[in-house]
Amino acid sequence: MPYKTVRINPVLPKQPRSSVLVIYTGGTFGMVYDPKASQLIPFDFEQVLDRVPELNRLDIEITILTLHEIIDSSNMKPAVWVELARIIEENYDQYDSFVILHGTDTMAYTASALSFMLIGLNKPVILTGAQLPIGIARTDARENFITALEIAAAQEDGRPVVPEVCIYFNSFLLRGNRSTKHESVQFNAFTSENYPHLATAGVSIDYNRPFIRPYQSNWSLRIRTELDPNVTILKLFPGITQPVVESIVNIRNLRGVVLETFGAGNAPTDSWFLDTLKEATDRGVVLYNVSQCNGGRVTQGRYQTSKMLEQIGVVSGADSTTEAAITKLMVLLGQESDPAQVRLLLARSLSGEISE
Ligand code: ASP
Repeated sequence: MPYKTVRINPVLPKQPRSSVLVIYTGGTFGMVYDPKASQLIPFDFEQVLDRVPELNRLDIEITILTLHEIIDSSNMKPAVWVELARIIEENYDQYDSFVILHGTDTMAYTASALSFMLIGLNKPVILTGAQLPIGIARTDARENFITALEIAAAQEDGRPVVPEVCIYFNSFLLRGNRSTKHESVQFNAFTSENYPHLATAGVSIDYNRPFIRPYQSNWSLRIRTELDPNVTILKLFPGITQPVVESIVNIRNLRGVVLETFGAGNAPTDSWFLDTLKEATDRGVVLYNVSQCNGGRVTQGRYQTSKMLEQIGVVSGADSTTEAAITKLMVLLGQESDPAQVRLLLARSLSGEISE
């Protein structure tokens, strides 16, 4: 079934300077108040110009594609990431850039997953959304959307300024796989503790060029569409019991675990704990160590409480976010069958997600 699309051509005497494909997936962004039902309902993007008439004044050609099923992003799944990657691949040559309208709850996961799935990406893919629906007077949706479009369309010497997967939200452009949702009430929903902002939007949009992945003239897009769902996240806490750890690492078909450890990558040194992890790695389960702290990094071996993890074969996630770690694990396990190879690739930066 073809997707529903709406095209907005700017009413200008000259040609639009850029073409953007906007993919609408759902989230708070696209809600309007239905007075008859006294509730917020998803709004039909055919009427986008009624809600955001400013779009007509941008010198950008905008095509809005609506997914068949509009979702609250808490229902996001790898199958939708594959659908998004396919839409981008199929439309890669027709458009200069892509904007994805997405719920904020899992936006950082989607941005991370896409950064690993879109190999050789050389065009902007900017995710944005809103904390307040577009139909509400104080909404942040309009500013987020318009600035995301401006950033997606930005070019210099005929090349995109930001040829990577990013999140634009509340005046800041963040690298997608460095982002985390840290706020559910204020407008500043996202943070990127371990990597600088890629741009700041005030009166002008100031790009932080040294930190933006450079355009590569010889790259062409290829997508990874196999993601292994047999992964989990194990968050440690003081008092975690042996049956809990054992039952998690012994889940049938489990292939990878993101271990959320304390501080600089530290964990209990109880022998039952280390033995359970060692048995799992010996069986081929890949363990990936990220910190429960948002800022800083895992340094295995700095403390006695992380030295053993290193010896067991747990891979350090360095300064990775949990969102990047779990999606990287799914993508790598989807492409590699050898755990040793997965461990090797986990330790490297694939798409700027860790500082090596
Ligand atoms: N629950 C919503 C979602 O993630 C929240 C939002 O969009 O801000 O889809």
